[in-house]
Amino acid sequence: MSELQEYLGKATMEKITSLAKRRGFVFQSSEIYGGQNGAWDYGPLGIELKNRIANAWWKEMTQLNDDIVGLDAAILMHPRTWEASGHVENFTDPLVDCKKCKSRFRADMIPQESLAAKKCPDCGGELTDIRKFNLMFKTHIGPTEDTASTIYLRPETAQGIYVNYRNIIQSNRMKIPFGIAQIGKAFRNEIVTKNFIFRTCEFEQMEMQYFVKPSTDVVWFNEWRKRRWAYYEKLGVKMDHLRWHQHGPDELAHYAKDAYDIEYLFPMGWRELEGVHNRTDYDLGRHTQFSGKDLQYIDQDNNNERYIPYIIETSAGLTRNLLMILCDAYDEEQVAEKGNEDDWRTVLRFHPNLAPVTAAVLPLMKKDGLAELAQDIRAELKEDYATDYDQSGAIGRRYRRQDEAGTPFCITVDYQSKEDGTVTLRFRDSMEQIRVPRAELTDRLRQEIKAYKRIK
Ligand code: ATP
Repeated sequence: MSELQEYLGKATMEKITSLAKRRGFVFQSSEIYGGQNGAWDYGPLGIELKNRIANAWWKEMTQLNDDIVGLDAAILMHPRTWEASGHVENFTDPLVDCKKCKSRFRADMIPQESLAAKKCPDCGGELTDIRKFNLMFKTHIGPTEDTASTIYLRPETAQGIYVNYRNIIQSNRMKIPFGIAQIGKAFRNEIVTKNFIFRTCEFEQMEMQYFVKPSTDVVWFNEWRKRRWAYYEKLGVKMDHLRWHQHGPDELAHYAKDAYDIEYLFPMGWRELEGVHNRTDYDLGRHTQFSGKDLQYIDQDNNNERYIPYIIETSAGLTRNLLMILCDAYDEEQVAEKGNEDDWRTVLRFHPNLAPVTAAVLPLMKKDGLAELAQDIRAELKEDYATDYDQSGAIGRRYRRQDEAGTPFCITVDYQSKEDGTVTLRFRDSMEQIRVPRAELTDRLRQEIKAYKRIK
């Protein structure tokens, strides 16, 4: 079996969806009412994982780059924003319906032969003509429902950054080149929502807009492509499951001069994870035109030269990154001793910086003071790490439960712990166990996390 087949054989979307539900990563929205299409809820482990992915990105952008600052703009924006951005006019998908089975498709996502023959790829029924369908959710603000009160749920976080660009230059004295980073919700009325949380109507984005002098855009575009690639490497993602895809002329968005996607090999195939776009001066030019405000940059270090900056955008889905991290971490391996060949474990090999629980403390027995000692150790570790405590069932089963939640370290408290103050530290990936003095645990975990290298 090739490595690809082996990978695809193990991590299917069904297995990942079911594990995510079983262990409290992701639930269907409004499940008791039959579920809401295009929306998902993040459970106790899911929200921890999502926060850690967001924190890793935030740190990478703002803490490690002196020239990038953060922003949290409102989801509801002045409706003129979306006229200026081109979304009212251009943010559409081509839609076709089957007259027979009533299935709905994105015309660019079905085989071109089916489209040309106007034949449904599912049932062979007749397809309607292509219609343009705007993906923005529209609602009303205030008590009247007329066109004057129309407002949109933002379909991308980027516009919140552009409309604040002048505020940030003024309040924070930013000088070009500089960037603004933002994480937040976005909404798109997607025609086809399948593959779990891959494409949803409500999702989160992590976007960074980097403002540059026009003639330097290509250099910065290449630089940001390099940095975004290095980021995933640092996150511990399998690099042979990532590749670049350059947008062809027919794929380029209305604002883009050049665009590359970072694609990940999901169980359903290669799909976009993040986009790096050269948006030129389109956005600030349009906002200048629509708002009547002068959004030129004045370069005080260069004879007050004035220009509308070009924008290099890195745009990643946070919820899509979470799906990628789940797929990337998913593994099944045979752990049986000889004679018991069907003993398998499912393990999520998260980087310890991303794992929802860093360390689980497990007393070998509930009795003889072991539970109390384990609780005491957990209380001490809590200050520095996300911890879990589990005292029910055989120790082997408890290890498996933690493996499935992706917990990198288990700390087992036994009778010897009472005598000599040592505990067992078990590593998720290798299942190796070593004895460590309790007093050294906090530091030891810190060292292990820093030195972590994925072995499989
Ligand atoms: P597509 O062509 O697949 O609809 P897009 O090219 O329009 O996506 P962008 O507008 O570039 O996507 O959005 C940037 C990122 O936001 C994507 O790379 C993806 O990670 C995320 N994203 C976009 N749409 C969705 C969605 N409906 N659900 C989840 N994440 C999304």
